[in-house]
Amino acid sequence: MNRNFIKNPDNKKILIDSYGRTINYLRVSVTDRCNYRCTYCMPEKMKFLPKKDLLTLDEMDYLCSLFISRGIKNIRLSGGEPLVRKGIIKFISNLSRFIKEGDLDEITITTNGSQLKSCSQDLYDSGVRRINVSLDSLDEEKFNEITRRDDLLNVLEGLEAAKKSGLKVKINTVVIKNKNLYEVNNIISWAHKNNFDISLIETMPMGLTDQDRIDQYISLFDVKEIISKKFTLANSPHKTSGPSRYEKVKETGGLIGFITPLSNNFCSNCNRIRLTSIGKLYMCLGQNDNIDFRNIMRNENIDSLNLAIDRAMHTKPKAHDFDISYKNQTPEIKRHMSVTGG
Ligand code: SAM
Ligand code: SF4
Repeated sequence: MNRNFIKNPDNKKILIDSYGRTINYLRVSVTDRCNYRCTYCMPEKMKFLPKKDLLTLDEMDYLCSLFISRGIKNIRLSGGEPLVRKGIIKFISNLSRFIKEGDLDEITITTNGSQLKSCSQDLYDSGVRRINVSLDSLDEEKFNEITRRDDLLNVLEGLEAAKKSGLKVKINTVVIKNKNLYEVNNIISWAHKNNFDISLIETMPMGLTDQDRIDQYISLFDVKEIISKKFTLANSPHKTSGPSRYEKVKETGGLIGFITPLSNNFCSNCNRIRLTSIGKLYMCLGQNDNIDFRNIMRNENIDSLNLAIDRAMHTKPKAHDFDISYKNQTPEIKRHMSVTGG
């Protein structure tokens, strides 16, 4: 198989789905494995995808280049924990050739921060400029309860290293009603003091964990009320390629993004598709429909791959189907967030 950049003969570089949305953002779960076990994400005894099914990084590069040739402009690497995948820095360096050639705007990464102490500079040197770091508590005990790992100080040191190496950091915080709601204002103050923007996220019902999501879920409408008691919020026109709606905080000058898949879905503006570490393309985080690109790549040809992208555009659903109202029932979306990449 030719592993070089696939040139698009028609120079037709825009992907539009059947609802008229431009699709220019690819999220790649480079591995579903993780060194943490966040309680809203996965159980302690997580069953990961079989190793034998994983795409090689070479295959992942090939599929990324295919999507870039069809109009993808932003790639976010996620997981699982993307920085625990062996060879990931070299993979990013390689992929950066598309930024240099003007075919890709940026490569970003979402990480739990555990590896940043050692690899921030490498990330910067490989071409990454912005990273999202997930951090749900500044209290050591709570951090341990949420991630099931005793690692807060390491993450804080990693954040310092990221700053030093010139990476622009945004903090991602899942607001969990029975865990960190009480410290949300504190986390916002801390983030802005460090010059980090922050996005708050609602818990989504994806995959079984060993905890009840009803106890975890709180609408960000309610959280905003709590925030408004301490801070003055004003709508901000700030936009990234992600789903956050931003507000500016008058007292700190920083931004808060609100990611509200359940209380106020953002599907009408969705610009994303998601590739898993075993090569399945999901057109929606909150639906089960997918296309097996690994199978097509290994057994068919470039025309079939391009047809599969066309099919993805035709079948991308209008909206997700998340429903948090179940109690002790299996969620509709059985795969964990780590499979599709958050
Ligand atoms: N391990 C990396 C991390 O934690 O940043 C990247 C993968 S993680 C799946 C990506 C994002 O999804 C994180 O911000 C995490 O907090 C969030 N996440 C995981 N499971 C979630 C769920 N069920 N509902 C809402 N957010 C979730
Ligand atoms: Fe790992 Fe990220 Fe899931 Fe936490 S949220 S268990 S760090 S993949």
